[in-house]
Amino acid sequence: MALAEAFSERKPDKLRALGVVALNGMFDEMDAVGVLRQAASEILPGDLAIVSSFGADSAVLLHIVAQVDPSLPVYFLETGKHFPETLEYVETLKKHLGLRNVIALHPDAKDIARFDPNGTLWETDPDSCCHIRKTEPLDPAVAQYGGWVTGRKRFQTRERGVLPHFELTSDDRIKVNPLAYFTDADVNQYKREHGLPEHPLFAKGYKSIGCAPCTSVVAEGEDPRAGRWRGLNKKECGIHFDFNGEIARPMLGAEHNLFKDGAFIADPFRPWAEGDDAASVRYTHVPVKTFLEHREAFLANPHPLGLLVVPGDKVEDVAEDLGRFASVAVSFPAFTDGRGYSTTRLLVERYGFQGEIRAVGDVLTDQIPLMRRCGINAFVVTHQPTRQALVDGALAEVAIFYQPVGKTEVPVGTRPYLRRAR
Ligand code: SF4
Repeated sequence: MALAEAFSERKPDKLRALGVVALNGMFDEMDAVGVLRQAASEILPGDLAIVSSFGADSAVLLHIVAQVDPSLPVYFLETGKHFPETLEYVETLKKHLGLRNVIALHPDAKDIARFDPNGTLWETDPDSCCHIRKTEPLDPAVAQYGGWVTGRKRFQTRERGVLPHFELTSDDRIKVNPLAYFTDADVNQYKREHGLPEHPLFAKGYKSIGCAPCTSVVAEGEDPRAGRWRGLNKKECGIHFDFNGEIARPMLGAEHNLFKDGAFIADPFRPWAEGDDAASVRYTHVPVKTFLEHREAFLANPHPLGLLVVPGDKVEDVAEDLGRFASVAVSFPAFTDGRGYSTTRLLVERYGFQGEIRAVGDVLTDQIPLMRRCGINAFVVTHQPTRQALVDGALAEVAIFYQPVGKTEVPVGTRPYLRRAR
């Protein structure tokens, strides 16, 4: 069956999920231009669009788009709050790259008049501001396509550390990430080699560029995204990007048990199975014991791998190889077994592990806030009330620290019995 035929109609979720796993197998080692060419011409012909912020790194993806097909639709969210330099950059790139189908999406004037008549909503309620200026205009555009292309890369955040080329989104679309394997150095080299124009604000210290009121300069060595919504507990723009990068709403995806970044999403990983080959297996959580038995073969394996740590395993035994894993699954076999918390703290605090850390096993509502404090950033959850609580955002966070973790928590004070003794 031709690829386009396989993906043209909405198949049952499971079949599409399997199809996307197969795509990653087929095109894992293909370069970025090849991945986008396959997506645009073979997998989703006429059914694929690009969303671009025309920010600091956008030129690389747009240059690849121009090579594959300059008439592919490129959507730009014209929020009405951009720097003039960004609007100028849209025109520069359109001209420089010969992009023929850049479409600006504007917020609904009635929404602006009703909810943000003074243009200051970003100060008092940035989530609502993003909602009316980004989410609402983008939703109907998204609905027209079976797939989207993003410029996200693995190196950008720990959550993106396992990003594959193709993902199934939680609303059953295919997300294509041609630059998934690009490093920071690759991006800079690509820009240099192809003489791509820089965003005019990049040289002034803006490393991640969004709307003007919500973007600031970042210091040398600071996380590039630290300049976005600085001082606010906000990281994404209300178009909720989940682990798979799609525009997603929190949902109880019946087929998905992995909860990450606010949504149940398709899981690229599977458990290690008897008969798997250490040299060629991919997207698999390998038990520590198995990894140690076949360490050389796993280290030579070029594909994304995960590690499964169960109680009794010693993280110390794999400490020097942790950088090999995009994901570590920490097992919590029973509610009463707290060894996974210690494992996680070792991974994060002693060994500085930056990738995904997911809790597997008996993962229940009361544990999740404690797991998050230790550094767990993904949860495999089958317990229905816990799934519902996650979707509803109904989990209480821990506000008072009796045993502080990491470097940011501060103990509330001496313990009550010590206070009484004074
Ligand atoms: S980034 Fe800021 S100004 Fe732009 S839509 Fe969001 S809150 Fe509003």
